[in-house]
Amino acid sequence: MNNLSEIQHIGNYKGNQLYIKREDLIPVSFGGNKARKSLYFLNYIKQNYFDAVVTYGSSSSNHCRVTANMCAANNIKCIIVSPIEKYHETNNSQMIHMMGAEIITSELNHIHETMLSAMDRLRNEGYNPFMIEGGGHGDLGTQAYVDCYEEIYRFHDSFDYIFFASGTGTTQAGLVIGKLIHRGKEKIIGISIARPSERGRKVVLDSIHEYLIHNDMSFFENEIEEDTIFIDKYISGGYGENDKSIDEVIRYALINWGIPFDSTYTAKAFNGMTEFIMSNHIENKKILFIHTGSTPLFFDDLRRMTD
Ligand SMILES: *Cc1c(COP(=O)(O)O)cnc(C)c1O
Repeated sequence: MNNLSEIQHIGNYKGNQLYIKREDLIPVSFGGNKARKSLYFLNYIKQNYFDAVVTYGSSSSNHCRVTANMCAANNIKCIIVSPIEKYHETNNSQMIHMMGAEIITSELNHIHETMLSAMDRLRNEGYNPFMIEGGGHGDLGTQAYVDCYEEIYRFHDSFDYIFFASGTGTTQAGLVIGKLIHRGKEKIIGISIARPSERGRKVVLDSIHEYLIHNDMSFFENEIEEDTIFIDKYISGGYGENDKSIDEVIRYALINWGIPFDSTYTAKAFNGMTEFIMSNHIENKKILFIHTGSTPLFFDDLRRMTD
């Protein structure tokens, strides 16, 4: 299979050689890791003749925008359950609306029931619905990043570090499994964008174990533990919360490299990576940052920063 995205050599950054994997340029619905995952979901949906999807995410969710787009393009009915508390208009929510997805808002503590009753309703209406967990969580999302690791490994089998924004866990789970399969040498470091390490890391480990069981694979538990590095030092106030230094990161990457980062995911992770490099005195290493997407959120930030 062709690579879904390119690896760009940026050059010297803080005394290291920096590369960026441009998942944001995957040519599906503004790209990003949710676009990569969606290709696997769409394939599965078609193979199993599903004709409706229920999923979850906030109004700023990249996953929901990609899913709504995938459904609209393939004549699949799409229901998105969204937390009432966090609803505000964004580029993503406007596109979700344009793509004709049905939004059902729910209290945060009733999300799962709301999703299940949407599934029931669709069945009663004669649909054959498929549920996609928030963030494209699950084995198919993990598989997408096992394959992404493979692309990275074929490009260069000796990066010293791989950094990226880690959220609901399957991006990291897939990368770690890919590394275990290929006996890769690099350190894979997920920078949490919201979750404290205890919960965030556990979800990654759960995703790894689930995938390994379903695919009849096994690795030593201590290897899995050692390879799962999840850092919550840079989450600031939590999901979507940041201080002003993040805007500087956005400005810097845009001006110097013409690369759009957003404040919720990629700039936050890039900033975390930079602080990690500096505080651990990492030098003369080959570092890969995975740009996990979020272009529409970059434009929300741009509007905010230039108002
Ligand atoms: C969803 C998302 C992430 C986190 O990916 P997970 O697989 O949920 O950990 C990172 N970056 C961007 C831009 C995202 O949209």
